Amino acid sequence: MRRMRKILVRLILIALVALAGLLLFGLARDHPEDLPWTELDLGQPIGTFTGRKLAALADEGGRCTELLRRAGVRFTALPARRDGLQCGYTHAVRFIAGGSLSIGYQPADLGNNCAVAAALALWEWHVVQPAALAQFGQRVERIEHFGSYSCRRIYGRDEGAWSEHATANAVDIAAFVLEDGRRISVVGDWDDEGAPGRFLDEVRDGACDLFATVLSPDYNEAHRDHFHLDQAARGAFGWRACR
Ligand SMILES: [Zn+2]
Repeated sequence: MRRMRKILVRLILIALVALAGLLLFGLARDHPEDLPWTELDLGQPIGTFTGRKLAALADEGGRCTELLRRAGVRFTALPARRDGLQCGYTHAVRFIAGGSLSIGYQPADLGNNCAVAAALALWEWHVVQPAALAQFGQRVERIEHFGSYSCRRIYGRDEGAWSEHATANAVDIAAFVLEDGRRISVVGDWDDEGAPGRFLDEVRDGACDLFATVLSPDYNEAHRDHFHLDQAARGAFGWRACR
């Protein structure tokens, strides 16, 4: 009797392990974006681990630009830059207007760290455009920004921590211009209770799945006119902001 029970328990265990294996196999095949060890593919939808994989790209410039290229993003890879001890970047890109993205950069603009650029691409495709279609029935034609690289400390103070902008690891988004020319801006429409306000809420919340830090007018007065999006390294306590 005892032996039978032992065999039965063993059989159940084997069945459970096989079932777990099958589930994982199915997940890996149908939703690789939801598994921590699969390679990031910018063509896939946003999954459970997409944000972490994007942040990890900050240290893998070569692989990151390859991912952008594979996803059909047009960009110029910028030469490494160093300004003093605290500022500069090694793997930055500048989007070329007219590619698969509506975030345009002027030739004089400085670039983004590639990890920020990859997150911006996913944000536009999977968050911004669907939200615009849902709220306005049309696409966003241009995303306006206040730039990325800037050798400064947080809030431009003389002392204190250096900003993620100092390593091109952040971008400030100011407004969205729709196909019909209508302009939805963070400063003008954040408190709106209609479609523009809902649109801005949606794109802010959606950015939180893709960037390590997302700061909006809800965070403080310094962000009343833009969304600050960055890929700051997650600290030992995994600090993330999404407000
Ligand atoms: Zn910023």
